Amino acid sequence: MNMINRSERLNNVSYDLCGPLYERAKELELLGHNITKLNIGNPAPFGFDAPAAVTDKIIESLHQAQGYSDHKGILSARKAIKRYYTFKGIAGIHTDDICLGNGVSELIMQAVQALLNNGNEVLVPSPDYPLWTAAVRFAGGKAMHYRCDEEADWYPDLADIKSKINSRTRAIVIINPNNPTGAVYSKELLQQLVQLAEEHNLVVFSDEIYDKILYDGTVYTSTATISEEVLCVTFGGLSKNYLAAGFRAGWMLVSGAKYKAKSYLDGLNTMASLRVCSNVPAQFAIETALEGEQTILDLTLPTGRLGQQRAITYEKLTAIPGITCVKPMGAFYMFPRLDLKKFNIESDQQFALDLLTEQHVLLVPGTGFNYQQHDHFRVVYLPEPTELSYTLDKLASFLGSYQQV
Ligand code: PLP
Repeated sequence: MNMINRSERLNNVSYDLCGPLYERAKELELLGHNITKLNIGNPAPFGFDAPAAVTDKIIESLHQAQGYSDHKGILSARKAIKRYYTFKGIAGIHTDDICLGNGVSELIMQAVQALLNNGNEVLVPSPDYPLWTAAVRFAGGKAMHYRCDEEADWYPDLADIKSKINSRTRAIVIINPNNPTGAVYSKELLQQLVQLAEEHNLVVFSDEIYDKILYDGTVYTSTATISEEVLCVTFGGLSKNYLAAGFRAGWMLVSGAKYKAKSYLDGLNTMASLRVCSNVPAQFAIETALEGEQTILDLTLPTGRLGQQRAITYEKLTAIPGITCVKPMGAFYMFPRLDLKKFNIESDQQFALDLLTEQHVLLVPGTGFNYQQHDHFRVVYLPEPTELSYTLDKLASFLGSYQQV
């Protein structure tokens, strides 16, 4: 029989947040089990609402939004994005440098595909948000994973990055605030990363989709404010800061050394036009979101839902003998470490499958984030406090008697 095979481009391309464990969870649901899905950062199912003005604006705009928009997006949204980043300190932004997309996900694929030739290399953090590795591989590139150091609050290891730069290296990915670790980088660290990019003519991809989800008064610096001598592509959107992942609204902004990137900018333009435009009703909500009430700021206070859920998760996880965890300063994830010997774990995938089968809790193990060792997993702390506590108690009792076979 002549089989129909997937393209070779998809070899080594995976996205474990919706991978085999997720498929298994759906099967269990069909059998009538209630699964706590902590696999993906999707706030709405956990009772988070986008600011009312954002949803109202989409409803109000539906009539106007029936046609295609410009391939980069409607001007009012791009002007609002320009104001947002100009206020943050990024110099010389033009609305043409901004492109809207169906979430940041689509733009990551575009930005990477427009840059890479076969065999080009991109420095990607380990652990990472796995779409970055997937996008690089899909584009024919090689993801060179640089180490983020748990002992140093998950900061990137500069020496490791330096050792991985060569003539094939085209770009460096910075995810800040970080998913899955929750790390938020200091200005000094960003300066060092940008300096490396400048020295080696690398494009900086700065994924800043969580830039408003910060705890304990953490100060945030956008990478592109550091230097105008580097080409920086900054990514942001409505999915997290505005709790509106389903609207599929994201953007990317190119800034800095545009004078040496005309060909790449043309490529980005082609990529944007190939998919005609992004979801238009959501484009109308971008200005309202950026310039309206920032409900996320209250949620991240110690008394806010995210602040409380972060505290509960950290306390409950670190109270489990054999688990250690760095407290996240941004986003809504934790990336705890398991004492493998104590729990007799050899495969983190098997551990996650056993947890799902026995306790009906879906987590993504660390290797799903391109982390080499099998001793981590990611917790999404979006469930409300009672459900979160209950779920973490189930995890603790499961680990208490766990023996991998
Ligand atoms: N980047 C990071 C770091 C993420 O965590 C996510 C979603 O979880 C995305 C990008 C994609 O977001 P979206 O496509 O919803 O804008």
